[in-house]
Amino acid sequence: MSDTENSPHLPIEDFREYGYQLVDWLAEYFTNIESQRILPEISPGDIRAMLPDVAPEQAEDMGHIIDDLDRVVMPGMAHWQHPGWFAFFPSGVSPVSVLGEFVAAGLATQGMMWSTAPSPTEIENTVLDWLVDLLGLPSTWRIDTGPGGGVLQMSASDSTHLSLAVARHHAVEAGHATDSLVAYGSEQAHSSIEKGARIAGYRHIRSIRVDESFALDVDALENQVEADLASGLVPTWVCSAVGTTSTTAMDPIRPIAAVAKDHGMWHHADAAYAGSAMICPEFRNLQDGVELVDSYTFNPHKWLLTNFDCSVFWAADRSKLIDALSILPAYLKNESSGDPAAIDYRDWHVPLGRRFRALKLWFVIRSYGAEKLRDFVRSHVDWAKELEDRIQADGRFEVTAPRTLALVCFRHVGGNDLTKSLADAVNASGTAYVTPSMIDETQFIRVSVGSTWTERHHVDALWELIDLHGAPV
Ligand code: PLP
Repeated sequence: MSDTENSPHLPIEDFREYGYQLVDWLAEYFTNIESQRILPEISPGDIRAMLPDVAPEQAEDMGHIIDDLDRVVMPGMAHWQHPGWFAFFPSGVSPVSVLGEFVAAGLATQGMMWSTAPSPTEIENTVLDWLVDLLGLPSTWRIDTGPGGGVLQMSASDSTHLSLAVARHHAVEAGHATDSLVAYGSEQAHSSIEKGARIAGYRHIRSIRVDESFALDVDALENQVEADLASGLVPTWVCSAVGTTSTTAMDPIRPIAAVAKDHGMWHHADAAYAGSAMICPEFRNLQDGVELVDSYTFNPHKWLLTNFDCSVFWAADRSKLIDALSILPAYLKNESSGDPAAIDYRDWHVPLGRRFRALKLWFVIRSYGAEKLRDFVRSHVDWAKELEDRIQADGRFEVTAPRTLALVCFRHVGGNDLTKSLADAVNASGTAYVTPSMIDETQFIRVSVGSTWTERHHVDALWELIDLHGAPV
């Protein structure tokens, strides 16, 4: 690379130096993250007020730009990687995935076709085939055997939207009117189901009642399907949630698959969070019947030590994707077009351009090995169970939903106000962060154990906060 005085680029020697400096900065962050307050004490607009209104006309010094990480960025950070982060679901990361991300950013390849990115494509093919086996999924979802196959996407929302769009395409091709198609999910399904269906042009989106465990009630699904058929509508797509967002409830895949089959519906499984747990065979009963679905998504970027964005989408029959999405203009044609060994991922999702997401996942799986990944997940489930036991043994609290993995949902028996003020007190500590939530007017607290740096003593410390701030009854 030329490095003349006139080059507009950062000299390579400076790149090296600042690169090392930033690795040190992140290493320091990971080491000392616990000393940070989890949520910043700032108001909307505070960060913007530190930034100039217009972009710089002249080049700024890189050292000065890096200094602004501490001056401008850190004061406005919510520290998702704090070991006391028990809110939402975890946002996965590991030092190894950061290194993979760094290299992928520098390579800046565009993986739209095999010919534009042979290694990224084949590493992605391979890593997703590995995951089929590691998670105990049907071997027919492997690319090397087919007919299925996996592709990395930005998010589970994209994956769900994709399956809705593909199902819609095939229904319309079969002669059904677009405005007659119906999509089904439980009333506890993630909002991305309704959003994806709306974007994909479904006019009819049904929220199906749940049972006492917050899982989809299959009788209610069947009744709704019959009612829709009687009105001349076309049941087209149904979602099984493998772990709902509110409580990690598990929809019964097998009976839902029977309804889907009877009516020719596309059956999608949303395992955004819980899918990572399937690396441990003992949890796979939670997704009994998974071999019957048409598509499946899960997010290594939640609970498998890989930083956002990294969501896997598998289709049980990849030809359905390719038939729906493939368009081959002259400028994309090349010698490998049509060669089954050369996967052109542009035909597997909405975007054309795509980055080398598989690199960080490849680094993570190799560097930890399946055994350590299993230990990682199991430890969180164990600690969540210990916390649940403490909550259940204390007369002030009650568990509000069955715990399936590492999410504990509970409330103060004194009602919504005492529950909400308990969550507020825990969060005000600055050392732990939980999510207050609500189902059917009942306030509860979600504790999701799963952050990379969380250890058992952090869960113990959370219990001490709950114990301290839980009002007596
Ligand atoms: N589905 C479920 C069950 C989720 O819990 C979430 C997020 O928490 C999503 C989908 C959305 O995931 P993403 O942010 O990857 O779109």
